Amino acid sequence: MKVNNPAVIASWASLLDPAIAIANAPTVPFPQWLTDFTGLHEWPHFDPPYIPLDFISFDLLPPVPRHTQGACGAVGPQWCLFDCANCVSYDDVYTCPKLSQTFDDGPSGPTRQLLAGLKHRSTFFTLGLNVVHFPDVYHETMARGHIMGSHTWSHKFLPALTNEEIVAQVQWSVWAMNATAGHLPKWFRPPYGGTDDRVRGIVRQFGMQTVLWDFDTLDWKMLAENAPNSRTERDIYAELDKFKQTNGGRGLILEHDVHSRTVGVALNIASKLERPLTVPQCVGGIDYIKQFPRD
Ligand SMILES: [Zn+2]
Repeated sequence: MKVNNPAVIASWASLLDPAIAIANAPTVPFPQWLTDFTGLHEWPHFDPPYIPLDFISFDLLPPVPRHTQGACGAVGPQWCLFDCANCVSYDDVYTCPKLSQTFDDGPSGPTRQLLAGLKHRSTFFTLGLNVVHFPDVYHETMARGHIMGSHTWSHKFLPALTNEEIVAQVQWSVWAMNATAGHLPKWFRPPYGGTDDRVRGIVRQFGMQTVLWDFDTLDWKMLAENAPNSRTERDIYAELDKFKQTNGGRGLILEHDVHSRTVGVALNIASKLERPLTVPQCVGGIDYIKQFPRD
């Protein structure tokens, strides 16, 4: 299945700031249950170790060739690549009955600015590495009723990774969310929209569902280091207005809560939406796979 409104896939290197992980220790304590399970005592840096899980079976995964970002000719269309072909599978969420926002790459400082101005519930796809460094922002996001989803541990392009590396990116993200807030996420967004039937297969074994988009603000291009201001707020609003006219009020918007400028765009867009929905509301799904009681 192919999405009619082609989403231009982000080609940035992520706004995840390497300085955060190197200069500051995580503030979420490494839980004893995770030490018992992994034998480790601290949160990983950018390349988390693979820990085998009894509910993950690589034998069940389709033999999709690995590809790096942009190397689209290396993989046939039968493997349903979103990053190359905007292909979506039967259980991917990529649109919403009401035009709604989603926010990737937090939590971080600018997330607070967004939270202060948002008048409706939304969906945040978080990076595990950021979650353990900004747990207060994560808790505030949750407390305001927003849905927390996973965006991997450290923002790697998943189709280029081995099965073990993909599992590690997902499992450490889930553990970061569980250690911070006592829940297991249901909704998963692959960085750069990088997914194929092998990546989806692993995500499904975690019980999670892939969430994509049908309108990409490309808000990160406003901040591109090699081409600053190659995109402006005005470009985004003009394209979104056009999308609204052609898409009948439906849609799922991709944005980033990582910079005051992208947050400014987000708040402006938010002020014009009519009763937007969270991702689970878009499809009648559950908020989390499990929420553990907190002391
Ligand atoms: Zn991202």
